[in-house]
Amino acid sequence: MSVRSYFSDSYADARARFVAACAGAGLDIESHRHPLTGPDGGPLFVDVVRIGPADATKLLLTVSGTHGVEGFCGSGCQIGWLESGLWRELPAGVGMLIVHAVNPHGFAWIRRVNEDNVDLNRNFVDHDAVPADNPGYRELADSLCPLEWDEASTRLTRIASQAFIDRHGDRAFVAAVSGGQYGHPDGIFYGGREPVWSNRLMHDICAREMANVRGLAVIDFHTGLGPYGYGELICRHRPGSEALARARRWYGDSVTSPGMGQSASPVIDGNLRMAFVGWLPAAEVTSTAIEYGTYPEDRVFDAIRADNWLHLHGDPTTPKGRAIKAEMREMFYPAADDWKDMVWERSVQVQRQALRGLAG
Ligand SMILES: [Zn+2]
Repeated sequence: MSVRSYFSDSYADARARFVAACAGAGLDIESHRHPLTGPDGGPLFVDVVRIGPADATKLLLTVSGTHGVEGFCGSGCQIGWLESGLWRELPAGVGMLIVHAVNPHGFAWIRRVNEDNVDLNRNFVDHDAVPADNPGYRELADSLCPLEWDEASTRLTRIASQAFIDRHGDRAFVAAVSGGQYGHPDGIFYGGREPVWSNRLMHDICAREMANVRGLAVIDFHTGLGPYGYGELICRHRPGSEALARARRWYGDSVTSPGMGQSASPVIDGNLRMAFVGWLPAAEVTSTAIEYGTYPEDRVFDAIRADNWLHLHGDPTTPKGRAIKAEMREMFYPAADDWKDMVWERSVQVQRQALRGLAG
């Protein structure tokens, strides 16, 4: 079985392959039906499989598709883990929970966001509190999401963005654009004003599957940031915390901390993976995102903005709409075997490191 065969061409294909891989391994699957459908009219599911002892107090959780379209990557890694038999490597006393396509709507529709235009990885915040303000986004909102998508609007966006960078710097620009915002529901990187469907489901899964868990490792698969094919392990635990030190012991010094300015990612609140820290106060939680690079940041940002325009103002069935979708898919799932090989190798390495770390 070659590595490329682990990766799929569509959400429906990925889901069928994941279900078949679980069946092939003799593992029971739990499927959660999403209320909406995919572009082909087909149903959408979040599929969950538990491996190892049901009462394991140590658990590795892997999650794919938090950012919809990025699920092509994480799904391939999860399917490969099952099809290759690596899932049998669990150390004694350690369990594993695989959550496939936690944002199936975004995956199927080739969007980073969910059915509510919400960035799921900005949604795990305290929605009873006053939402965080992002004045930089407010300043840039109109130029980031223009009414027309053409060369003229792209030029104007470049001018406004460069002016912002000249005043505040590159890092402030990235934080303003992608750090998350709660004031523009039609904008990009919008965090929502209530827990969305996938958030509530994840909370239910946690309550049901992790009541006994005292040691949890989370690996959340992402793409679209950093050098092509490189898998950066991003750890959002506080600088100086035991959890960050533990992550470095397990995964080595390649672990980056946005809080210490080491990551390609800005500091982001509302991550799915960090929600477990609050949900499981009695557990030692070690959460990381593995972020695989694809193409230059400007091109990835443009694809996200174009997809937002298409969603609000365009028609995905036109040549322009199809070109935007193709670019969106390529930015988060390069159609190249060398990229898939790099993704796969690194995913095996980090999952093995997590299992060793949990086993202690
Ligand atoms: Zn992502």
